[in-house]
Parts: sequence; structure tokens; C-alpha cells
Amino acid sequence: MAKEKIIIGSHISLAGPDYYLGTVKEALSYGETTFMFYTGAPQNTIRIPTERFKIDEGRALIKESGIDEATIVCHAPYIINPANTINPSTLDLAKSFLLSELKRVSDFHVSMIVLHPGAHVGAGPEAGIQSCIDVLNEVLSQDGTDVKIAIETMAGKGSEIGVTFEQIKQILDGVEYPKRVGVCLDTCHVNDAGYDVHDVDGLLEEFDRVIGLDKLLVVHINDSKNPIGAHKDRHSNIGLGEIGFETIEKFVTHPKLTKIPKILETPYIGEKPPYKKEIEMLVNGKYDPDWQKDL
Ligand code: FE
Ligand code: FE
Ligand code: ZN
Repeated sequence: MAKEKIIIGSHISLAGPDYYLGTVKEALSYGETTFMFYTGAPQNTIRIPTERFKIDEGRALIKESGIDEATIVCHAPYIINPANTINPSTLDLAKSFLLSELKRVSDFHVSMIVLHPGAHVGAGPEAGIQSCIDVLNEVLSQDGTDVKIAIETMAGKGSEIGVTFEQIKQILDGVEYPKRVGVCLDTCHVNDAGYDVHDVDGLLEEFDRVIGLDKLLVVHINDSKNPIGAHKDRHSNIGLGEIGFETIEKFVTHPKLTKIPKILETPYIGEKPPYKKEIEMLVNGKYDPDWQKDL
């Protein structure tokens, strides 16, 4: 039997003049079989209307290239903080922006969006978790799309929630639209949160026991600049961080994760995107210690 194609890509910007068509072209130029994008800058709420995004042209190229559209991922901007109970205007923005973002994602015919569950900013994790649940229920009762929200596992930087599988499970259990929510597992974040990522089988068993592997929608593939439990969230290039190539490659090729899109969010090396080389090494299972020199 032929080896199944690994579903792997990276985060890619959606920039003019070609917008979505340009995003797809860029992903293909790195040899990606899927990709993740933002509908605008991740740090702000400025969004241009989706009619200008060359969505039809992008989708035509997706079809032609053999990328399965169902594996494409969108990421919500970081400024959405559904766990903030301290500042009412932050919470209002979280709701209205998530609502409009879900509509935009459905305009792309993309089926899922990754969302950071947020930070409780001093009110405590329980208050933050409840707030996140309330925001999700309110938004999902109104949005009228079928886009799934993948709650991302967080590193535990500052007052982030969603740092343990138990907290993620608590959020999922509180949402009244179970078919609309799932999880994004980030290898850097779980490392920084204190999980032993090197025991990949053990980690996935723990995820399955607490949350259920059927809830896993996306895996973010990142090395970490920091050791286990550092609570930092600083991504490193593959093989250049504390996790290392061997462990990361186990996630990429793990039989339990075959159908799940894997997305790199590693930093540029200088001005150069690292994704073509990183993906090539991961898919071939061979690490080249000098890979950065070939960019
Ligand atoms: Fe993220
Ligand atoms: Fe991530
Ligand atoms: Zn991160």
C-alpha cells in the first residue's frame, strides 16, 4: 500500500495584491499539503472585506493542487480574549470580533479556526474558563455558520487559561454546541506548560483519556526555545530548540495523527521563510544540522 501523504503546512499571511490566491501559491511553493492563514493582521482588528480576497481563484488552485480543503486552518487574532472578566470592552470585542471572524472563515469555505482561550488577567482561572465558555455559547448561538472552533492548548504565560488538558476539557464540556468545538494541540505550548512531550505516545494517551482524541482538530508543530514547564511560549525552528527534531518528527508521522493537519508556526530565519526545508526534513525523517545555511 502506498504511504499516506502527510498533511503538513505552515502559517502563511494573506497579503495583497493576490490575497488568498497568493497564500495558496506560497504554501505550494514550500511543498505544503495544507496551510494555516490569518484573515488579517493577528495583532489588530482591521479587516478588509472578503470579496477582495480572490477566494475563488485561491480555491480553484487548491482543487487543482490536490490539497484537501477540509484540512485548511484559519487562526483568530490574538487580541480576542474571551477569558477577560475585568474589562467589559475587551469581552465585547472578543464576542463581536469572533462572530465576524467566523463569517469570514466560512466565506473562504474553510472549516475550522484556532482560538486562544485567553487570559484571566487576575480574576483566576475558574472565572476565566467560565467567561470563555459564556462567550463561546453566545457567539455559537448567533453565528449561523458551521465553522469549528479549535481551542488551543496554551503555554501558561502570564495568566493564560487552557494550560492543562483538564482546563480545555472543562471549556469543551461547558459549550452547548459540542459539534462546533475541538482542540488545537501546540507542541511548544504543551512543552512549556509542563507536559513531557518526548513521550509522544504517553502524551497522546493522556490527551485521549482527559479530552478524547476525536476532539483533536489541528496540531501546531513548533520547537520551543525553553525547557519543559517554562511557561514562556517562544517558538523555535525545528531541531534548534529544547524539544528537538526526533520528538517533533514523531508527532508529524504518528499513526494516530495521520488525518490531522499539522501546522508549523516557526519563526523566519532572518528574512527567510524556513518552511520548505523544515517540512522536507520532517517528511523524509532526516535532519540536516546545517539546514539553515541552505535557505
Ligand atoms: Fe496560536
Ligand atoms: Fe500555536
Ligand atoms: Zn505560541
